[in-house]
Amino acid sequence: MKLNIVIPCFNEEEVLRETSRQLTELVETMINEELLSECIIFFVDDGSNDKTWEVIEELQGMSAYVHGLKLSHNVGHQNALWAGMEQSAGKCDAVVTIDADLQHDINKIRDMVLAYQDGYEVVYGVRNTRSTDSGFKKRTALSFYRLMHKMGVDLIPNHADFRLLGKNALQALLEFPERNLFLRGMVRLVGFKETNVYFDCNERFAGESKYTTNKMVAFAMDGITSFSVRPLRIITLIGLICLGISIAEMIYVLVAYFRGHTIPGWASLLFSVWFLGGLLLFSIGVVGEYIGKIYKEVKRRPRYFIEKQI
Ligand code: UDP
Ligand code: MG
Repeated sequence: MKLNIVIPCFNEEEVLRETSRQLTELVETMINEELLSECIIFFVDDGSNDKTWEVIEELQGMSAYVHGLKLSHNVGHQNALWAGMEQSAGKCDAVVTIDADLQHDINKIRDMVLAYQDGYEVVYGVRNTRSTDSGFKKRTALSFYRLMHKMGVDLIPNHADFRLLGKNALQALLEFPERNLFLRGMVRLVGFKETNVYFDCNERFAGESKYTTNKMVAFAMDGITSFSVRPLRIITLIGLICLGISIAEMIYVLVAYFRGHTIPGWASLLFSVWFLGGLLLFSIGVVGEYIGKIYKEVKRRPRYFIEKQI
Protein backbone atom coordinates (compact mmCIF):
# COMPACT_ATOMS: atom_id res chain seq x y z
CA MET A 1 0.00 0.00 0.00
CA LYS A 2 0.91 3.64 -0.48
CA LEU A 3 1.09 5.84 2.61
CA ASN A 4 1.35 9.62 2.91
CA ILE A 5 2.53 11.04 6.22
CA VAL A 6 1.38 14.65 6.54
CA ILE A 7 3.34 16.83 8.97
CA PRO A 8 2.27 20.45 9.51
CA CYS A 9 5.22 22.65 10.48
CA PHE A 10 5.14 26.16 11.84
CA ASN A 11 8.57 27.49 12.79
CA GLU A 12 9.96 24.01 13.34
CA GLU A 13 13.52 24.46 11.98
CA GLU A 14 15.02 22.97 15.13
CA VAL A 15 13.11 19.69 15.00
CA LEU A 16 12.66 18.92 11.30
CA ARG A 17 15.99 17.21 10.63
CA GLU A 18 15.47 14.81 13.51
CA THR A 19 11.82 14.21 12.60
CA SER A 20 12.77 13.46 9.03
CA ARG A 21 15.62 11.15 10.08
CA GLN A 22 13.38 9.12 12.39
CA LEU A 23 10.51 8.96 9.91
CA THR A 24 12.80 7.94 7.03
CA GLU A 25 14.25 5.17 9.17
CA LEU A 26 10.76 3.94 10.07
CA VAL A 27 9.51 4.12 6.50
CA GLU A 28 12.53 2.19 5.23
CA THR A 29 11.98 -0.65 7.70
CA MET A 30 8.28 -0.73 6.86
CA ILE A 31 9.05 -0.94 3.16
CA ASN A 32 11.57 -3.71 3.84
CA GLU A 33 8.92 -5.57 5.83
CA GLU A 34 6.65 -5.13 2.81
CA LEU A 35 4.05 -3.38 4.93
CA LEU A 36 4.28 -0.45 2.51
CA SER A 37 5.04 -0.32 -1.17
CA GLU A 38 5.56 3.42 -1.34
CA CYS A 39 5.62 6.25 1.13
CA ILE A 40 5.74 10.02 1.08
CA ILE A 41 6.84 12.09 4.06
CA PHE A 42 4.94 15.25 3.35
CA PHE A 43 6.01 18.38 5.21
CA VAL A 44 3.56 21.27 5.03
CA ASP A 45 5.20 24.57 5.88
CA ASP A 46 2.43 26.66 7.41
CA GLY A 47 3.92 30.05 6.52
CA SER A 48 6.84 29.81 8.93
CA ASN A 49 9.02 32.85 9.42
CA ASP A 50 12.17 30.95 10.31
CA LYS A 51 14.28 28.60 8.16
CA THR A 52 11.66 25.79 8.08
CA TRP A 53 11.24 25.85 4.31
CA GLU A 54 15.01 25.88 3.67
CA VAL A 55 15.32 22.85 5.93
CA ILE A 56 12.53 21.07 4.07
CA GLU A 57 14.26 21.76 0.75
CA GLU A 58 17.51 20.44 2.14
CA LEU A 59 15.77 17.28 3.42
CA GLN A 60 14.02 16.80 0.11
CA GLY A 61 17.40 16.83 -1.62
CA MET A 62 18.68 14.14 0.75
CA SER A 63 15.78 11.72 0.97
CA ALA A 64 13.71 10.05 -1.71
CA TYR A 65 10.66 10.07 0.54
CA VAL A 66 10.46 13.72 1.52
CA HIS A 67 8.07 16.05 -0.26
CA GLY A 68 7.24 19.60 0.74
CA LEU A 69 4.44 22.08 0.43
CA LYS A 70 4.87 25.75 1.28
CA LEU A 71 1.76 27.72 2.14
CA SER A 72 1.79 31.43 1.41
CA HIS A 73 1.10 32.43 5.01
CA ASN A 74 0.24 31.03 8.42
CA VAL A 75 -3.26 29.55 8.19
CA GLY A 76 -3.13 27.52 11.40
CA HIS A 77 -2.61 23.88 12.26
CA GLN A 78 -6.06 22.65 11.11
CA ASN A 79 -5.87 24.32 7.71
CA ALA A 80 -2.30 23.16 7.20
CA LEU A 81 -3.42 19.60 7.89
CA TRP A 82 -6.25 20.07 5.43
CA ALA A 83 -3.82 21.32 2.77
CA GLY A 84 -1.63 18.24 3.25
CA MET A 85 -4.58 15.86 3.17
CA GLU A 86 -6.17 17.51 0.14
CA GLN A 87 -2.91 17.31 -1.78
CA SER A 88 -2.55 13.64 -0.80
CA ALA A 89 -6.06 12.63 -1.80
CA GLY A 90 -6.17 10.27 -4.73
CA LYS A 91 -2.43 9.64 -4.57
CA CYS A 92 -2.29 7.16 -1.70
CA ASP A 93 -4.21 4.44 0.11
CA ALA A 94 -4.03 6.12 3.49
CA VAL A 95 -2.78 9.30 5.16
CA VAL A 96 -1.31 9.61 8.61
CA THR A 97 -1.25 13.07 10.16
CA ILE A 98 1.32 13.68 12.88
CA ASP A 99 2.91 16.68 14.66
CA ALA A 100 6.37 17.78 13.65
CA ASP A 101 7.74 17.94 17.16
CA LEU A 102 8.03 14.15 17.78
CA GLN A 103 5.56 14.31 20.67
CA HIS A 104 3.51 11.68 18.91
CA ASP A 105 5.12 8.27 18.98
CA ILE A 106 6.09 7.66 15.35
CA ASN A 107 6.46 3.91 15.91
CA LYS A 108 2.69 3.71 16.31
CA ILE A 109 2.37 4.48 12.61
CA ARG A 110 3.13 0.80 12.06
CA ASP A 111 0.21 -0.22 14.32
CA MET A 112 -2.02 2.22 12.45
CA VAL A 113 -1.06 0.72 9.10
CA LEU A 114 -1.66 -2.79 10.45
CA ALA A 115 -5.11 -1.70 11.67
CA TYR A 116 -5.83 -0.24 8.24
CA GLN A 117 -4.85 -3.52 6.64
CA ASP A 118 -7.27 -5.23 9.03
CA GLY A 119 -10.03 -3.14 7.49
CA TYR A 120 -10.19 -0.07 9.73
CA GLU A 121 -10.66 3.19 7.82
CA VAL A 122 -10.03 5.54 10.73
CA VAL A 123 -7.34 4.90 13.37
CA TYR A 124 -7.07 7.40 16.23
CA GLY A 125 -3.82 7.90 18.09
CA VAL A 126 -4.82 8.28 21.74
CA ARG A 127 -2.49 9.40 24.51
CA ASN A 128 -2.04 7.16 27.51
CA THR A 129 -0.95 9.83 29.94
CA ARG A 130 -0.22 13.50 29.94
CA SER A 131 2.77 13.18 32.21
CA THR A 132 5.03 15.19 29.90
CA ASP A 133 2.71 18.17 29.72
CA SER A 134 2.97 21.14 32.03
CA GLY A 135 0.29 21.32 34.74
CA PHE A 136 -1.30 24.22 32.90
CA LYS A 137 -1.56 22.40 29.57
CA LYS A 138 -2.87 19.26 31.25
CA ARG A 139 -5.56 21.15 33.14
CA THR A 140 -6.66 23.22 30.15
CA ALA A 141 -6.75 20.16 27.89
CA LEU A 142 -8.79 18.10 30.36
CA SER A 143 -11.28 20.88 30.99
CA PHE A 144 -11.53 21.34 27.24
CA TYR A 145 -12.61 17.72 26.70
CA ARG A 146 -15.02 17.96 29.64
CA LEU A 147 -16.54 21.19 28.30
CA MET A 148 -16.86 19.76 24.80
CA HIS A 149 -18.62 16.72 26.23
CA LYS A 150 -21.05 18.94 28.15
CA MET A 151 -21.69 20.90 24.96
CA GLY A 152 -22.69 17.70 23.25
CA VAL A 153 -19.66 17.37 20.98
CA ASP A 154 -18.55 13.83 20.39
CA LEU A 155 -14.77 13.60 20.79
CA ILE A 156 -12.31 10.88 21.64
CA PRO A 157 -10.64 12.04 24.87
CA ASN A 158 -6.90 12.54 24.59
CA HIS A 159 -6.89 12.17 20.85
CA ALA A 160 -5.17 15.02 19.07
CA ASP A 161 -4.49 15.18 15.36
CA PHE A 162 -2.41 12.00 15.22
CA ARG A 163 -4.51 9.63 13.13
CA LEU A 164 -4.71 7.47 10.05
CA LEU A 165 -7.41 7.94 7.47
CA GLY A 166 -7.98 5.39 4.74
CA LYS A 167 -8.74 6.71 1.28
CA ASN A 168 -12.52 6.34 1.68
CA ALA A 169 -12.56 8.20 4.99
CA LEU A 170 -10.26 10.84 3.54
CA GLN A 171 -12.47 11.37 0.54
CA ALA A 172 -15.51 11.66 2.79
CA LEU A 173 -13.79 14.14 5.09
CA LEU A 174 -12.71 16.33 2.19
CA GLU A 175 -16.34 16.69 1.19
CA PHE A 176 -17.04 18.81 4.26
CA PRO A 177 -17.41 22.33 2.90
CA GLU A 178 -16.93 24.21 6.16
CA ARG A 179 -14.22 26.82 6.68
CA ASN A 180 -14.07 26.59 10.46
CA LEU A 181 -12.14 23.38 10.68
CA PHE A 182 -12.20 21.26 13.79
CA LEU A 183 -10.84 18.03 12.41
CA ARG A 184 -11.06 15.81 15.46
CA GLY A 185 -14.79 16.51 15.64
CA MET A 186 -15.33 16.24 11.90
CA VAL A 187 -13.63 12.86 11.58
CA ARG A 188 -16.10 11.50 14.13
CA LEU A 189 -18.91 12.38 11.72
CA VAL A 190 -17.42 10.48 8.82
CA GLY A 191 -18.40 7.10 10.18
CA PHE A 192 -16.55 4.07 8.76
CA LYS A 193 -14.93 1.40 10.86
CA GLU A 194 -12.66 2.96 13.46
CA THR A 195 -10.30 1.95 16.22
CA ASN A 196 -7.75 3.43 18.62
CA VAL A 197 -4.02 3.02 18.95
CA TYR A 198 -2.56 4.07 22.31
CA PHE A 199 0.77 5.83 22.70
CA ASP A 200 2.84 7.57 25.33
CA CYS A 201 3.39 11.20 24.61
CA ASN A 202 7.00 12.38 24.47
CA GLU A 203 8.49 15.72 25.34
CA ARG A 204 8.74 18.18 22.48
CA PHE A 205 12.06 17.31 20.76
CA ALA A 206 13.13 20.97 20.55
CA GLY A 207 11.69 24.45 20.38
CA GLU A 208 8.60 25.83 22.03
CA SER A 209 4.93 24.92 21.62
CA LYS A 210 3.48 26.74 18.62
CA TYR A 211 0.08 26.78 20.26
CA THR A 212 0.06 30.02 22.20
CA THR A 213 -2.63 30.48 24.87
CA ASN A 214 -4.47 32.72 22.40
CA LYS A 215 -4.44 30.01 19.74
CA MET A 216 -5.64 27.44 22.29
CA VAL A 217 -8.57 29.62 23.37
CA ALA A 218 -9.48 30.33 19.73
CA PHE A 219 -9.30 26.61 18.96
CA ALA A 220 -11.57 25.71 21.89
CA MET A 221 -14.09 28.38 20.88
CA ASP A 222 -14.06 27.10 17.30
CA GLY A 223 -14.60 23.58 18.51
CA ILE A 224 -17.65 24.51 20.53
CA THR A 225 -19.28 26.96 18.16
CA SER A 226 -18.71 24.91 15.02
CA PHE A 227 -20.16 21.80 16.57
CA SER A 228 -22.85 22.71 19.02
CA VAL A 229 -25.85 25.00 19.28
CA ARG A 230 -26.14 24.32 22.99
CA PRO A 231 -24.76 27.75 24.01
CA LEU A 232 -27.69 29.34 22.15
CA ARG A 233 -30.11 27.14 24.08
CA ILE A 234 -28.43 28.00 27.38
CA ILE A 235 -28.96 31.70 26.60
CA THR A 236 -32.64 31.12 25.96
CA LEU A 237 -32.87 29.29 29.27
CA ILE A 238 -31.08 32.05 31.18
CA GLY A 239 -33.40 34.55 29.51
CA LEU A 240 -36.45 32.59 30.68
CA ILE A 241 -35.13 32.35 34.24
CA CYS A 242 -34.46 36.10 34.26
CA LEU A 243 -38.00 36.70 33.07
CA GLY A 244 -39.35 34.60 35.95
CA ILE A 245 -37.22 36.49 38.45
CA SER A 246 -38.33 39.84 37.09
CA ILE A 247 -42.02 38.89 37.39
CA ALA A 248 -41.48 37.90 41.03
CA GLU A 249 -39.65 41.16 41.56
CA MET A 250 -42.51 43.13 40.01
CA ILE A 251 -44.98 41.55 42.41
CA TYR A 252 -42.67 42.35 45.32
CA VAL A 253 -42.35 45.99 44.19
CA LEU A 254 -46.12 46.42 43.81
CA VAL A 255 -46.80 44.90 47.25
CA ALA A 256 -44.18 47.16 48.83
CA TYR A 257 -45.65 50.18 47.06
CA PHE A 258 -49.24 49.57 48.24
CA ARG A 259 -48.10 48.86 51.76
CA GLY A 260 -46.58 52.28 51.76
CA HIS A 261 -42.99 51.44 52.57
CA THR A 262 -41.16 52.32 49.41
CA ILE A 263 -37.58 51.54 50.15
CA PRO A 264 -34.62 53.45 48.72
CA GLY A 265 -33.71 50.37 46.70
CA TRP A 266 -30.63 51.93 45.27
CA ALA A 267 -28.36 48.93 45.78
CA SER A 268 -30.72 46.39 44.25
CA LEU A 269 -31.40 48.68 41.30
CA LEU A 270 -27.76 49.22 40.60
CA PHE A 271 -27.14 45.51 40.92
CA SER A 272 -29.90 44.67 38.44
CA VAL A 273 -28.62 47.18 35.94
CA TRP A 274 -25.16 45.73 36.05
CA PHE A 275 -26.28 42.16 36.16
CA LEU A 276 -28.68 42.41 33.26
CA GLY A 277 -26.29 44.59 31.29
CA GLY A 278 -23.58 42.00 31.69
CA LEU A 279 -25.89 39.18 30.85
CA LEU A 280 -27.12 40.90 27.72
CA LEU A 281 -23.65 41.73 26.52
CA PHE A 282 -22.50 38.21 27.13
CA SER A 283 -25.46 36.76 25.27
CA ILE A 284 -24.98 39.09 22.34
CA GLY A 285 -21.36 38.01 22.32
CA VAL A 286 -22.25 34.35 22.07
CA VAL A 287 -24.82 35.00 19.36
CA GLY A 288 -22.25 37.13 17.57
CA GLU A 289 -19.84 34.20 17.71
CA TYR A 290 -22.27 32.18 15.60
CA ILE A 291 -23.03 35.03 13.25
CA GLY A 292 -19.30 35.43 12.77
CA LYS A 293 -19.14 31.76 11.86
CA ILE A 294 -21.96 32.13 9.34
CA TYR A 295 -20.22 35.15 7.87
CA LYS A 296 -17.01 33.19 7.47
CA GLU A 297 -18.75 30.18 5.92
CA VAL A 298 -20.80 32.29 3.54
CA LYS A 299 -17.73 33.96 2.13
CA ARG A 300 -16.29 30.56 1.25
CA ARG A 301 -12.79 31.89 1.22
CA PRO A 302 -10.02 29.50 0.18
CA ARG A 303 -8.53 27.65 3.12
CA TYR A 304 -4.92 28.15 2.04
CA PHE A 305 -2.70 29.15 -0.88
CA ILE A 306 0.21 27.11 -2.12
CA GLU A 307 3.39 29.05 -2.71
CA LYS A 308 5.69 26.19 -3.68
CA GLN A 309 5.64 22.45 -3.93
CA ILE A 310 8.58 20.04 -4.12
N1 UDP B 1 1.36 24.14 13.79
C1 UDP B 1 1.02 24.66 12.52
N2 UDP B 1 0.50 25.93 12.45
C2 UDP B 1 0.28 26.71 13.56
C3 UDP B 1 0.60 26.16 14.85
C4 UDP B 1 1.14 24.87 14.91
O1 UDP B 1 1.20 24.00 11.51
O2 UDP B 1 -0.19 27.83 13.42
C5 UDP B 1 1.93 22.77 13.87
C6 UDP B 1 3.24 22.67 14.63
O3 UDP B 1 4.33 22.93 13.80
C7 UDP B 1 3.20 21.23 15.11
C8 UDP B 1 1.72 20.97 15.33
O4 UDP B 1 1.03 21.99 14.60
O5 UDP B 1 3.66 20.32 14.11
C9 UDP B 1 1.35 20.99 16.79
O6 UDP B 1 1.82 22.17 17.38
P1 UDP B 1 2.58 22.20 18.77
O7 UDP B 1 3.43 21.00 18.94
O8 UDP B 1 3.29 23.50 18.85
O9 UDP B 1 1.35 22.19 19.77
P2 UDP B 1 1.22 21.39 21.17
O10 UDP B 1 1.78 20.02 20.95
O11 UDP B 1 2.01 22.17 22.15
O12 UDP B 1 -0.24 21.41 21.43
MG1 MG C 1 3.56 19.59 20.28
